[in-house]
Amino acid sequence: MRYSQSFIPTLKETPSDAEVISHQLMLRGGYIKKAAAGIYSYLPLGFKVLKKVEAIVREEMERAGAQEILMPMVTPAELWQKSGRWDIYGKELLRLKDRHDRDFCLGPTHEEVVTELVGNYVRSYRDLPLNIFQVQTKFRDEVRPRFGLMRGREFVMKDAYSFHTTDEDAEREYQNMFETYKRIFARCGLKFRAVEADSGAIGGNFSHEFVVLAESGEDAVASCSACDYAANVEKAAAKSKRNPPSHRVAPLDIEHLSTPGRKTVEEVTAFMKVAAEQLVKTLVYLADGNPVVALVRGDHELNEVKFKNVLNCNDLELADAAAVVKVTKSAPGFAGPVGLEGVKIYADHSVEVMDNFVTGGNEKDVHLKNVNIKDFIAEGFYDLRSVIHGDECPKCNGTLEIHRGIEVGHIFKLGTKYAEAMDATFLDSDGVEKPIVMGCYGIGVGRTAAAAIEQNNDESGIIWPMPLTPYEVIITAVNPKDEEIRNASEAIYAELQEKGIEVLLDDRDERPGVKFKDADLLGIPVRLTLGARSLKEGNVELKLRRDKESSNVRLGDAAAEVERIVKEALK
Ligand code: ATP
Ligand code: MG
Repeated sequence: MRYSQSFIPTLKETPSDAEVISHQLMLRGGYIKKAAAGIYSYLPLGFKVLKKVEAIVREEMERAGAQEILMPMVTPAELWQKSGRWDIYGKELLRLKDRHDRDFCLGPTHEEVVTELVGNYVRSYRDLPLNIFQVQTKFRDEVRPRFGLMRGREFVMKDAYSFHTTDEDAEREYQNMFETYKRIFARCGLKFRAVEADSGAIGGNFSHEFVVLAESGEDAVASCSACDYAANVEKAAAKSKRNPPSHRVAPLDIEHLSTPGRKTVEEVTAFMKVAAEQLVKTLVYLADGNPVVALVRGDHELNEVKFKNVLNCNDLELADAAAVVKVTKSAPGFAGPVGLEGVKIYADHSVEVMDNFVTGGNEKDVHLKNVNIKDFIAEGFYDLRSVIHGDECPKCNGTLEIHRGIEVGHIFKLGTKYAEAMDATFLDSDGVEKPIVMGCYGIGVGRTAAAAIEQNNDESGIIWPMPLTPYEVIITAVNPKDEEIRNASEAIYAELQEKGIEVLLDDRDERPGVKFKDADLLGIPVRLTLGARSLKEGNVELKLRRDKESSNVRLGDAAAEVERIVKEALK
């Protein structure tokens, strides 16, 4: 491609609404253009990158035995009503009506459509197993679309679904996809971890997220410094450090203290001059509309995913002020477990080993000192908190570190949940009709491209890993009006194209400084610079985007050298 004829609308200024570096650089480099919040056009460079990620995903999925299909994006409500998700999906599901007033929604994911599709076709165990996938535009009306392609509302996803006669076979395919995902992200040139994720009602470790490590990531990953344990913080098991019995102290009598206006952990602990570890937070939640109470230590955070799993409810939300008043019979900010009636109390394991702690007094401006677990009745003690940096590893004696990352892929064993709801059954070899066992496997295509930029950039712009770059090499003709430079550039351009190298020829009538700046911003991994001085000596300057220094190659060797570098990087 000739730069002079291309559509690469770069920007001089960083758009003010772009918070993370990948979003900034994609806008500045003319990769994408916002149409509405979370909705983007992919310009030529952005589209090329997207197609590169797609191609890697497609190749590896096919190598793993999956077959590509394309399902509709507009999906009928009946399917979602059948699975029950029409009512529980909430506002992320964009619903619409056709001219006959029939309900539809834009597919945020395709379990319903695919289960209906495959369920209709499968008759017997002989038709299974199957793994089918698509690369498609999804729509999720996210509450906070942001970070460009990282959390869009309209975005490209690869979603795959597998169908099996038995749990064991679904687990075999899960492993197959696990290995396939590792290959995909390695081939994209990314540093990533496969981490255990919450698998809700499904038993066993059959949910993994593939997380690209980056400071800007919205996910937190706990990993052990000593063993290979790695899990999403939502899921990572907390080991409560149990106080050895000799450290326990005898319970004292409860004291009522006046704590005027002190509600938060910070306010109360500062006022009472106690550590947050000595306080127990009392949180009122609504589980499917009914109040429940959770207790966690002052310096810990309640983990809503874990709490939801313990309660086995569909919907869990922090109670509003009115509900708190109803449960505690006092102003919000002073809730405590002592004397609470008509509501179940779930306590975190770490509370079980605390002595003489501070809680709210269920009375405005009152906190209690010297509370012990004998002073209230808990439903039980559970793992309810998120792990924190320095916690003990649940698998070994090492300590956990918390890193930030971007979830680019997710694999999940679904079991028979959708098959049962959608009536997708098969006749087994024993003549018994059984529900199909399923798995699902997603990759955010655009998010993967954005994650690659988060991991590979500097103050001048993007530094593409070779497998994802829109062009492998840029030829910067310093002064294309100079005939010698123009002819030499055109010759190398033709030679590289011949070799199948993706090349952008910067033939624009621009100052060299502008051209170098743009080449760095776009992030093309190899640059060949043709200037009058070096050309006089028969040389071309070769610079890798990743390196500070450049080197000279003979004009006649330049194309072959670039080819060697590109091939090496794609190995
Ligand atoms: P998140 O927790 O980030 O919202 P999710 O759990 O909703 O993700 P899945 O339903 O598992 O995501 O979707 C599969 C993949 O699709 C994710 O791993 C991610 O890479 C991608 N993805 C999900 N939501 C978005 C989005 N709003 N924008 C871009 N990619 C997305
Ligand atoms: Mg989501």
